[in-house]
Amino acid sequence: MQMFQLNSQNYHSNEANQHYMSVSQFKSAIECEASVIAELKGEHERPSSLALTVGSYTHSAFESEQVFDEFVEENRGIIFNTRGGKYADFKQADSMIETIKNDRFAMFALEGEKEVIYTGELFGVQWKIKVDAINHDRKTFTDLKTTQSLSKRYWSDKYSKYVSFVEAYDYVLQMAIYREIIYQNTGAYYVPYIVAVTKETPPDKAILHFDESRFEFELEYTKERLPSIISAKLGNKDPKRCEVCEYCRATKQLNNTFEIEFLLK
Ligand SMILES: [Zn+2]
Repeated sequence: MQMFQLNSQNYHSNEANQHYMSVSQFKSAIECEASVIAELKGEHERPSSLALTVGSYTHSAFESEQVFDEFVEENRGIIFNTRGGKYADFKQADSMIETIKNDRFAMFALEGEKEVIYTGELFGVQWKIKVDAINHDRKTFTDLKTTQSLSKRYWSDKYSKYVSFVEAYDYVLQMAIYREIIYQNTGAYYVPYIVAVTKETPPDKAILHFDESRFEFELEYTKERLPSIISAKLGNKDPKRCEVCEYCRATKQLNNTFEIEFLLK
């Protein structure tokens, strides 16, 4: 049997996602197992979103000049309009990139090795992680996040309260998992940071740290929710359908009626 060799070229591939759990796979499966399993089987393709391309564009700007130039070259048709100017989303990304590059403390926080891949075992399965920036001298790692506004509130069923974008997008969970996998690879618990920049004009920015007491809850939550996802991945049970996502809407077959009360959830 051939071992699967994970690298930066195949990191986001279906094959890599079949072999490994990742934070984004876990988050997607919490929303809808059926959609994730269909994607892994190649039966469903998530539409490539502009937001994802803008995100990669922004990240590549902090990886290296060469990576950024290559990314722009490969995505010329998406980034530039016919008159040679950049589309609005990329102009906005440029302004966010400038905002961070002009802030010495933010750039200090992002110092280190970029886009580093690690694997490890957590709760009985293999995980893969990709760290935006890791600094082995300081024993820190930093993730770059873009968001609407630093102070926007989101309702969270997970936390049963209004939360910031950091909890709403499960970035605390991400940091908790990354911390464990990095520990397995280095023998030390590294301190996580988020460099956040907003889509406002002009962009706002912040460097965020975490009270360590937050991580235990996230690991417990992951441990509790993971078995159902793994079981679906192994084909031992039918994956749970959310009945609202694109995949579920496209494959839905009605067999019952329901009282109008259940329209709002
Ligand atoms: Zn669904």
